[in-house]
Amino acid sequence: MTHTELTTARNFVGGEWAGSRSDKTFDRHNPAHLDEHVVTAPDSTSADVEEAVGHVSENYHAWADTAPEVRADVLIRAADILAQRADDIAEELVREEGKTLAEARMETRRTPQNLRYYAGESLRLTGSTYPTADGSWVLTSRSPVGVVAAITPWNFPLNIPSRKLGPALAAGNGVVFKPSEVTPLSGQRLVEALVEAGVPGGALALVHGHGEVGRAMVSDPRVAAVTFTGSTAVGEAIHSAVSVSVRCQLEMGGKNAFVVLEDADLDKAADIIAKGAFGLSGQACTGTSRVVVHESVADCVLDRVLERAQAHVVGDGLVAGTTMGPLANRAQWDKYQEFLQDRSGARLETPLREQKLTDGYYARPAIFTSVGPTDRLAQEEIFGPVLSFLTVGSYDEAVDVVNGTPYGLSAGIATRDMGRAMQFSRDVEAGVVKVNQATTGMAMNAPFGGVKMSSTQTHKEQAGDTMMHFYTTDKTIYI
Ligand code: NAP
Repeated sequence: MTHTELTTARNFVGGEWAGSRSDKTFDRHNPAHLDEHVVTAPDSTSADVEEAVGHVSENYHAWADTAPEVRADVLIRAADILAQRADDIAEELVREEGKTLAEARMETRRTPQNLRYYAGESLRLTGSTYPTADGSWVLTSRSPVGVVAAITPWNFPLNIPSRKLGPALAAGNGVVFKPSEVTPLSGQRLVEALVEAGVPGGALALVHGHGEVGRAMVSDPRVAAVTFTGSTAVGEAIHSAVSVSVRCQLEMGGKNAFVVLEDADLDKAADIIAKGAFGLSGQACTGTSRVVVHESVADCVLDRVLERAQAHVVGDGLVAGTTMGPLANRAQWDKYQEFLQDRSGARLETPLREQKLTDGYYARPAIFTSVGPTDRLAQEEIFGPVLSFLTVGSYDEAVDVVNGTPYGLSAGIATRDMGRAMQFSRDVEAGVVKVNQATTGMAMNAPFGGVKMSSTQTHKEQAGDTMMHFYTTDKTIYI
């Protein structure tokens, strides 16, 4: 199997690779070198979506009827293909999205693992039996839900789609997939591997494009389930667009906080904070954007985090020694600039270097102090390497500050007191709680999802065994 260089991405509709019916395209350039072209992709329209959904809704049943072990074998083959190409795809991912090579390799290793995990889940779609008074049989079975629309962001453009396409296909659904316009090439690589491994064209379609594609997918009456990961604003728009009969899983933004109590190991806490805040250039949904620190240790923690922030080498992720890549696109860079300018009383502790847009969307770690809990810096998701320090006088105040935003994705605490840590896990409004660990980084086999405006509460699992419930529907059968 070989990996061929690709500069033109294609839609995959009706088992054929082709451009948009409109013939329009869009280009993606390397965020580390803005004049370097990476890929041209179809700028699809609602007509392309209509065709893709139509084809999958008419043809996915053959895939649904295959034996679970056949579907598992196909997913394992796709995982093998991706694993063999992992290094090549990692380099493309750096050029397309802006990660460092080390971060990209973690993603290209995790993606096949996800597919293998969900291959196994296809064999565990078990039902139940129930006792009855008259001795007849009542049992449940799990069926695919139908056509699944999968809409994904750019920050993990292989890992997140593999956690949607993997379980959806494992359960026998048909899938129409729209990757982010920022990362069409990565989305293409995943679909290429699945198709080569044997997923039929009737069960899977890929449609590249901008917002129009996603909007057309979620409003198509033949779509039975929408799985979306992205911003809260787009998630809310999707929520109001889908019909009440459509299953909807929305995984959205965060404003994740890390608490440092008086008794914490401060060096370890600083390592954890820096990792959570500046890994992936701060562009992780679970990234640490607020440090809520006890006043007695605030200065010590700040000094240590500043040291780690300033040691970062910002640059092209393919160049050896780079520890932080560029931001992914102009919108991210503008937002970062906006928060550096509009400080509303907060104090910038990191040097304000000249921030001209030259070769790429480079951004250095920025750390603010004197931030109030209701300030924009402490409330809005920035999705960049911007960290705000908020000082508190007690554990209770820390919990109030952490819970004082509309989001509830991930939260962490540094303490040596396990009783306090367990208390925090009960008090905090977050779907994921990390004790002496970064707010980023999740196990692939454990449930993952947020509370409040970070996730839909009806279907919030986006990893682990409970995830299969979203992609299957229970039927109760009386015999
Ligand atoms: P985004 O702007 O919300 O876009 C996400 C996807 O939705 C893209 O494929 C986008 O297409 C599509 N889209 C845009 N408008 C749409 C509409 N009206 N209807 C249907 N689809 C539409 O998010 P992003 O900038 O790619 O990603 C960053 C965000 O994702 C952050 O807020 C981050 O917190 C969140 N995120 C959350 C998680 C989680 O697990 N909770 C994980 C990763 C990222 P186009 O690209 O073509 O516009």
